[in-house]
Amino acid sequence: MLASSLLATYCTELHDDQAHKVDKYLQCFQLSDETLMDVSIRFRREMDKGLCRDTNPTAAVKMLPTFVRSTPDGTEQGEFLSLDLGGATFRVLLVKVMGNDEQKVEMENQIYAIPEHIMRGSGSEVGSIHYTQLICTVHNKAVGACHLPVLYMYEFTITQIDKIVLLSWTKGFRLSGVEGKDVVSLLRESIKKRGDFDIDIVAVINDTVGAMMTCGYDDHNCEIGLIVGTGTNACYMEQMRNLELLDGDEGRMCVNTEWGAFGDDGALEDLRTDIDREIDAGSLNPGKQLFEKMISGMYMGELVRLILVRMAKEQLLFQGKTTAELLTTGSFSTNYIYAIENDKLEGLASTEKVLRDLGLDLSLEDCIVTQRVCQIVSTRAAHLCAATLAAVLRQIRDNKAAEKLRTTIGVDGSVYKNHPEFSRRLHKMVRRLVPDCDVRFLQSQYGSGKGAAMVTAVAYRLATQHAERQRILNTLRLSRAQLLDVKERVRKEMVRGLSKQTHEQASVKMLPTYVRSTPDGTEHGDFLALDLGGSSFRVLLVQVRSGKRHKVDMHQKIYSIPQEIMQGTGEELFNHIVHCISDFLEYMGMKGASLPLGFTFSFPCHQNRLDQGILLKWTKGFKATGCEGEDVVMLLKDAVRRKQDFDLNFVAMVNDTVGTMISCGYEDPKCEVGLIVGTGTNVCYMEDMKNIELVEGDDGHMCVNMEWGAFGDSGELDDFCTQFDHMVDASSNYPGKQRYEKMISGMYLGEIVRNVLIDFTAKGLLFRGKLSERLKTRGIFETKFLSQIERDHLAMRQVRSILQHLGLTSSTCDDSVLVKEVCTVVARRAAQLCGAGLAAVVEKIRENRNLNHLSVTVGVDGTLYKMHPHFSSVVQETLQDLAPQCQVTFHKSEDGSGKGAALITAVACRIQNGGQKQEH
Ligand code: ADP
Repeated sequence: MLASSLLATYCTELHDDQAHKVDKYLQCFQLSDETLMDVSIRFRREMDKGLCRDTNPTAAVKMLPTFVRSTPDGTEQGEFLSLDLGGATFRVLLVKVMGNDEQKVEMENQIYAIPEHIMRGSGSEVGSIHYTQLICTVHNKAVGACHLPVLYMYEFTITQIDKIVLLSWTKGFRLSGVEGKDVVSLLRESIKKRGDFDIDIVAVINDTVGAMMTCGYDDHNCEIGLIVGTGTNACYMEQMRNLELLDGDEGRMCVNTEWGAFGDDGALEDLRTDIDREIDAGSLNPGKQLFEKMISGMYMGELVRLILVRMAKEQLLFQGKTTAELLTTGSFSTNYIYAIENDKLEGLASTEKVLRDLGLDLSLEDCIVTQRVCQIVSTRAAHLCAATLAAVLRQIRDNKAAEKLRTTIGVDGSVYKNHPEFSRRLHKMVRRLVPDCDVRFLQSQYGSGKGAAMVTAVAYRLATQHAERQRILNTLRLSRAQLLDVKERVRKEMVRGLSKQTHEQASVKMLPTYVRSTPDGTEHGDFLALDLGGSSFRVLLVQVRSGKRHKVDMHQKIYSIPQEIMQGTGEELFNHIVHCISDFLEYMGMKGASLPLGFTFSFPCHQNRLDQGILLKWTKGFKATGCEGEDVVMLLKDAVRRKQDFDLNFVAMVNDTVGTMISCGYEDPKCEVGLIVGTGTNVCYMEDMKNIELVEGDDGHMCVNMEWGAFGDSGELDDFCTQFDHMVDASSNYPGKQRYEKMISGMYLGEIVRNVLIDFTAKGLLFRGKLSERLKTRGIFETKFLSQIERDHLAMRQVRSILQHLGLTSSTCDDSVLVKEVCTVVARRAAQLCGAGLAAVVEKIRENRNLNHLSVTVGVDGTLYKMHPHFSSVVQETLQDLAPQCQVTFHKSEDGSGKGAALITAVACRIQNGGQKQEH
């Protein structure tokens, strides 16, 4: 009892003493936190170099694309075959992946030795022997994955996920006729030649990807694979836009860093010790894989051996003696280190045994020193590994623009798994170097074989899901023939709406506006304008100045219209409007002035005069009772009278499309079409009086308010409508009405997208089949999201934050890509439909005038048209395609509904006051 405690005390003291001695001797092996941080920064630079197209050819760290674009989501299923070729064994693994809830994987495994003569024989020989064995094992399984993990990937060029060109054999393989060829094709050829079974080779991966994919099945956050075994390497999911070697910048792809080659261009020279140089000089590939040689299991034992030899030679160990065994390369196996670094006393016993087996005569001090050497060498390995891993973590964190990254690393390799302290030291240092990352390390079970099967399983899942999604999205894609059809049908409805006989049944009402003339620049005066048509109400004072440099000054105030007023009684609505006008006049100090007034009222109205408008029906969310069928000007006048506060002088009632056209026409006389794509959509244009049968007279032109949003209400769009359009229509304020508008405008596009997303989720094609409560809410997916998402060049950051806002917190990168595709398809269809309608309009104007070629300007307004990054270009593209004889310029209107209303009022006043005669 006494003796052993004495020994323990003695040991501790001796230990500290000896350890101190070794620490001093091996100072250059011990890296401070600052140095490790510096290594991490250097490695990040090397990663950038490897990712960049220009610097990649000379980069030491190759950052190879793996063509693995997605990690498992747990819904994979099926049976897969995995071949694992490397070293002296060949492994065939049958992996059964049970789908959804079970998330279970079953495996059958068979290992075959590869005889020496085959390893050095011809390619076809290795083929034949393996495939014979393969058949016995798998009984004609149809699906397979080929996995070649041990061959160093930097010697391969991969061009696709199922193609891999072998640059040169390593690990003792010398088969002729294989180098420079695609290994997968060779395998396929061999199988074909035999002709008695069939496997479909889906993927070729390396072991880091295997580790990541294996762990990814159990933990969906897993996006890094790490190997510390015979060699060392890591892979991670990189943003496509950073991978300059490949085209395309959406989504992610796994990058195999090949970090073992870090330092091959001299980046680690100041940290490499004489021993590192000695190891390298004696290796099979001098000057190559320098980082790996400081870390991995293949070299760790040898590093320790060389240090021991050197210390012995300097009389610091073994009384200055060495043995032939100790001097033999490879005699100190890395496995010894695992035993030596075991718990103190047990470790000491192991040390003694190892050293004695090497023929050494030794003391307790020698054992303590040897143990310390092992600790220092393996700690350096763990810390260097932590430094490079920290760089990868920071890269992922920056890609996601996340303040705190939560991620999982799938790890495999004998050093990580068998060394008693390596993993703990690695984890600790990673957390010290990147304290803002919450990292989970997950050990990969069954390693690469299961991983290869997972890659295949994911590829199969993606292919099946992709086909299903495209089938659904295709219903939202319109062909050129369909668009031509839309154009023709719009054209037909226009004629029906203009004709007295068919006007009643026509879905497109083609309402006369009594606006016959556009401004000529001589208008002047102060005008009041009201603008009601969306979610807000505006009052404006517009000052029009005539003369050479005619110009318009405006002052305005915006008032909101609460939902309950929009859907209350008409009296409440108009009282609210009058209240706002009163407030504005007060604000401008103009109470008492009775200015001419233009009222932009953007709902379908029947007009018999310029200063009258009978509301046909509410649109865009308005439902106020007692207004439909009434003259809106009268309703407003009644409200003014009720308030008895001020007086108004009504001159013109205007639709916003007309205002838009007129305000553009003030600058561009060729502007004869007005288009709105905002909350709703509508068009007006200058029609020949002779075609407007509802109004007397055949001379000159009049602006016609098409109210084209109602196109389709008689079934003209039924064959283009999808289930999503029907759902949006059914849950709208006026089912069956405004069908064209419901496929085009801002009020509905977000809803269409939301319905597609719900359908995809219900079918398990999105968000792993899990819907958030928020996404079930009508209107929650705003149309402005479509603009933000399509404008997103920041690697889906916008998409992710929008999805988070919608409660979809665990959405993946694949989900973001898909959401973006849905937005693109829905917005594109809207813009194409709008372009097809416009083609009908400009063609009609051209034909009215018997022109071969028409040059015309369209004045446009509406937030969707103006803010969406692609909407306007698709409209123009479609229009050009469907109406090639018309040259159409688009002019974005600045405040058509305010300025335009005032200008129409000004023109009317000019005419009333005996100015220039109205055009006929
Ligand atoms: P209104 O048509 O009501 O007069 P706007 O032209 O401003 O008004 O259109 C508003 C509509 O535009 C909203 O219903 C919304 O759906 C849509 N919207 C708002 N912001 C954007 C955006 N950034 N991109 C696309 N659409 C948008």
